[in-house]
Amino acid sequence: MSCDAFETLKKRYLTLRDNGLANTFKIQDAIISSIRVFLKSEGFTEILAPIIGPVTDPGIRGAKQVTIDYYGVPFKVMSSMILYKQMIIASLPKVFALSPNIRLEPLETVKTRRHLTEFRQIDLEVAYATCEEVMELGENMLCHVIREVKRKCCEELGERGKSLKVPRKPFKKYTYNEAVEILKNMGMHVEYGEEIPWEAEEALSKAHSEPFWITNYPITARGFYYMENERKPEVLEDFDLIYPEGFGEAVSGGKREHRYERLVERMWRSGENPSDYGWYLDMLKAGIPPSAGFGIGVERLTRFICGLENIWDAVPFPKVAGVPSP
Ligand code: AMP
Ligand code: MG
Repeated sequence: MSCDAFETLKKRYLTLRDNGLANTFKIQDAIISSIRVFLKSEGFTEILAPIIGPVTDPGIRGAKQVTIDYYGVPFKVMSSMILYKQMIIASLPKVFALSPNIRLEPLETVKTRRHLTEFRQIDLEVAYATCEEVMELGENMLCHVIREVKRKCCEELGERGKSLKVPRKPFKKYTYNEAVEILKNMGMHVEYGEEIPWEAEEALSKAHSEPFWITNYPITARGFYYMENERKPEVLEDFDLIYPEGFGEAVSGGKREHRYERLVERMWRSGENPSDYGWYLDMLKAGIPPSAGFGIGVERLTRFICGLENIWDAVPFPKVAGVPSP
């Protein structure tokens, strides 16, 4: 990111008057409304997202959590509401929230053009669902949103309207192993067992003209809350959706580990101390239904649909690593 771009973000009160940005936010409004209509037609209930709590999602690849002093008790600002989704599905089996998240991403993420430190997810969860079921839901949701935006925002989309296509279903699926192999053939090395690095993810995304899934990440690459595959130990029942054209990751999700003993083991293994997870472990002991779900970043979806170079133009008041903007 150049110093100019830095300064521009700090003077958002001036650049916000740019007409291109007004169009983006009208499209964003259509994106959010169409997701709500879609999910409600699928039987989901929208709930209010938590903003703070004693625990939050630890699986945030190198980003730092923010801790506040809550009357003498350390509280986290939500990095994602995954643990809370597991709480609510006991009473509402299909839920979603427009959930704000804070993650102090590493400084080098300014170069990815797809990382903010404050962003929002449409975060959803379905009791007793399989990965395949929520992945199909994700495909239908993305197709619905793009169709609706093309219909309602023809003028605001401008030239992007021509290249933005409603994707073909079903989306292609690669396992993590297959994705790593493809990357190897593209000359990019990914250490087995690790997250796919941002540059490699972008390169793979650039090599596609339709969105695609990467499934079954190794247990060492992800948070403790994804369920391990019964038949393939060390492999998770999880998935990412990747946008085409270099826009990178859209969605992460999977089936959740809901069994107390297994989860405690997984916590130790991923370097988390179970004693830091008081209410969450008490809840698992009391018993919760199995579930699957995912989160889709709203700003990344806006960036993809509008064809924007930088994610910070997909949010009115952007927060980027290291930039103290309004
Ligand atoms: P994660 O739980 O890290 O996979 O995040 C879920 C989704 O939120 C991702 O698939 C992205 O769409 C979005 N997301 C995650 N981190 C960021 C970030 N730093 N900036 C913008 N969007 C993000
Ligand atoms: Mg992810």
